[in-house]
Amino acid sequence: MFSYRHGFHAGNHADVLKHFVLVQLIQYLNQKDTAYTYVDTHAGAGLYALDSGYATKNAEFETGIGPLWGKTDLPPALAEYMNLIKEMNPSGKLRYYPGSPFCAEKILREQDRLRLFELHPSEIKVLSENFRKLDAHQAEQGKRPTVRGKRIIISDTDGFDSLKSLLPPPSRRALVLIDPPYEVKDDYRRVKSALDEAVKRFPSGTYAVWYPILQRMESRELPEKLKRVECKEWLNVSLSISGPAPDGFGLHSSGMFILNPPWTLVATLKEVMPYLVAVLGKDKQAKFEIQTGTPLTGQNPRFKK
Ligand code: SAM
Repeated sequence: MFSYRHGFHAGNHADVLKHFVLVQLIQYLNQKDTAYTYVDTHAGAGLYALDSGYATKNAEFETGIGPLWGKTDLPPALAEYMNLIKEMNPSGKLRYYPGSPFCAEKILREQDRLRLFELHPSEIKVLSENFRKLDAHQAEQGKRPTVRGKRIIISDTDGFDSLKSLLPPPSRRALVLIDPPYEVKDDYRRVKSALDEAVKRFPSGTYAVWYPILQRMESRELPEKLKRVECKEWLNVSLSISGPAPDGFGLHSSGMFILNPPWTLVATLKEVMPYLVAVLGKDKQAKFEIQTGTPLTGQNPRFKK
């Protein structure tokens, strides 16, 4: 269970899709002053060095942030995400890649809250240490503290189980990212059941699920299952950088499934996804897909059309 280390994959094409969409979801929430809670059920280590340790093993960032770094023609929404990465790399050389907690922390406001869950005993230590360093750095610059106080809480409990205890959030506004490793089949089942429970408690939240697109049945079925979660609307976006490898190995495609997405997101994706395919695509099977819809079941009277 503890074999997964996100550092091996940091900054790859799947991270680019996930974090670019995450930034868009947060920017949308920032349009209103009212505070919100950002929940990261599977936080990882928060920040990754690309020039040492795990990330150098397969250099997966070369499929994602690598080719985008230094591009001067990024669509504006992708540039917002890139600006975060640039902030982490003030020397101008791509050395550090922020995971979802750091992407979020950079754009959440003083009044917003981060609730981060990470089960891996080593990853949570690194995550806490990374935030401690960020905190010290910000204090040096006279900026707001991050970990101190109630703004950020990092917990070593199970993210799927803990989510319900945070819903509904005090301000009745929340964004939840669910990003498990999917190394065990049960993660697919738990994503769906965590969401079913979450929307019962807090129907108007925005929920984003990252998922790998693989040959295994659980992976192929996940988006269809998520289309049944009771919400107002859903959006499913996927990015394939190539067709599947003949040996079936490697991750070439992934998706973000969003419940109750901002209405602006489709237009933004239509601008950015063709660019990502053009820059990151490896063969003629590189593509993106965007689907939207309303839940297939229509059981919840709150959401009757
Ligand atoms: N969200 C991170 C990002 O985008 O930077 C990456 C997270 S990584 C894909 C998944 C993480 O979830 C791993 O660090 C793993 O140790 C952790 N994990 C696995 N099962 C968990 C669970 N049930 N609750 C909380 N964390 C879990």
